[in-house]
Amino acid sequence: MSQVLPRVRRTQPRPSRRGRTASALLASGAFALLTACGGGGESASTAGPQSASPAAPEARAQAVAAAPLPMLRQDGRLWRNAAGQQVNLRGTNLGNWLQLEFWMMPFDAATPDQCTLENRLTARFGRAEKERLMQVFRDHWITTRDWDLMQQFGLNVVRLPFWYSLIEDETRPYTLRPDAWKYLDRAIDEAEKRGMYTILDLHGAVGSQGWEHHSGCAGKNEYWGNAEYRNRTRWLWQQIAQRYRDRGAVAGYGLLNEPWGTTPENLANVITDLYHAVRQVDPKHVVILPGHAAGIDAYGTPASRGMHNVAFEMHFYPGFFGWGEPSYPVHNDWLYCGNAGTGGVCEWERRLNALNTPFLVGEFQPWTAIGALGPQLGARHYDVYNHRGWGATSWSYKTLSRDGQAGDGSAGWPWGMVTNPAGARVQEVDTVTASAAQIEAYFRSFGTLPLVKNEALQRWMTLKHSAPGRIEAESFTWMQGVQTEPTSDGGTGINAGWLDARDWMSYPVNVSTSGTYRVSFRVASPNGGGRVILSQDARDLAVATVPATGGWQNWTTVSALVPLKAGQQTLTVYIGAGGFNLNWWQLDRP
Ligand code: MG
Repeated sequence: MSQVLPRVRRTQPRPSRRGRTASALLASGAFALLTACGGGGESASTAGPQSASPAAPEARAQAVAAAPLPMLRQDGRLWRNAAGQQVNLRGTNLGNWLQLEFWMMPFDAATPDQCTLENRLTARFGRAEKERLMQVFRDHWITTRDWDLMQQFGLNVVRLPFWYSLIEDETRPYTLRPDAWKYLDRAIDEAEKRGMYTILDLHGAVGSQGWEHHSGCAGKNEYWGNAEYRNRTRWLWQQIAQRYRDRGAVAGYGLLNEPWGTTPENLANVITDLYHAVRQVDPKHVVILPGHAAGIDAYGTPASRGMHNVAFEMHFYPGFFGWGEPSYPVHNDWLYCGNAGTGGVCEWERRLNALNTPFLVGEFQPWTAIGALGPQLGARHYDVYNHRGWGATSWSYKTLSRDGQAGDGSAGWPWGMVTNPAGARVQEVDTVTASAAQIEAYFRSFGTLPLVKNEALQRWMTLKHSAPGRIEAESFTWMQGVQTEPTSDGGTGINAGWLDARDWMSYPVNVSTSGTYRVSFRVASPNGGGRVILSQDARDLAVATVPATGGWQNWTTVSALVPLKAGQQTLTVYIGAGGFNLNWWQLDRP
């Protein structure tokens, strides 16, 4: 056996993560609830069936004819639509479009933020020409091609980060720009045509709500100390709410992105004030309350502040910004609650459930810088968040680099779901010295630059299990007591492990025809004695015993016969006796 991949298996027994056994869950009916609230494929999904290949023109035409999306609302800790269906929001951010972040594309080093660029263009060419060039950028950075690509990832929401002066004329406070609604209208329309909601995200407020470059003006953070800036932002949100108050395709209003330039307590007070300003105009939309870097505790319950129909938002970046290095264990510990089973996502689940308030993980980045395991781990983030009913929008849809992405889409893949391929070189211009025509040509080039998808990420994000077919063990919708790790066996490189009696993993499976199937389990076990059961609705359908294979990564296949009915259903792999790893299982007609 070649031990090519690192493995860390705990030598001490794992503390119990199971307050209740699977049997108790089955008996109580909680099991059905758990599976019914599973990944995006199982609840109301507004995105149509996805194919791995680009949509044919006819398919696009159909998508364009999609019905208007029903408005979302808060129902306890869940997002629901007007028909009462739970909606698991699965999406991404349209970063670097309506709020520029120059690390997301090749750009000259003399431009740290959007303020610098706009001031420079105005000083060099006059304001009218600056306005025109910014429009050229916006018209070419995102085109219909990009909306089609987003749809192909199976998304049903897009978060739209924008700068305040997209809407307010920065030279005339409390005045709408002539083209104030051009880009938000377009984005909402294009998303809705493809079955996707939008979240309006004020990413940069006038004066800047933090020191970071992505608020528009790096190092500023003047929003909190300036009553006039806060008044203008209150006015701005009232204009937005007036514009979109009846638009169902807007999932929610994200009042202020990463507002970390003040204390958590002051943030909660300022956001409460903004909430009430919105409510004077719009009684219906979900208002999204941003967390502080320190969390959301300063808010207390929204109702205690007179706030209703709201959701909280946090951004979780395990692997980045001081939170460890990007790696499979760091992401996995976060998603599956750490060694004790009570940290990470589980801790946040308790917090949100206590507040009985929906949640949006407005930014996260699970696929970059961890190699071949990134795409599946990316999809797992969506599944785990959606399992809790949380909305999830990754950062970000598109990033470009000067030399483009080489290889198969897994090694060294960047932060974007799409990027430019190797050979599609992007040569930035120097905005200090380039002519307006040169800058315009650069901006226009984004509209025709070849793009390449992260195909593996797309495949995992749109995966639907079917029988006959093979199901990777780690692609469960939910589980009890299971952890995952890299494997040296074939398949996708991950196996399920730490399997003990009464652990289980559940999977939505579409069975093509009724009849007898052979179920095969790919197992490895140092000592044997394991028992693996395929079950459904608390009934054992098939049992296979696991022999000793000589090691945790020495693999063999065991099988049994199982009768299945045709149709979409939940199948559960239940552990009768543990002591083995499971890489995949498979259903075939014998
Ligand atoms: Mg596997």
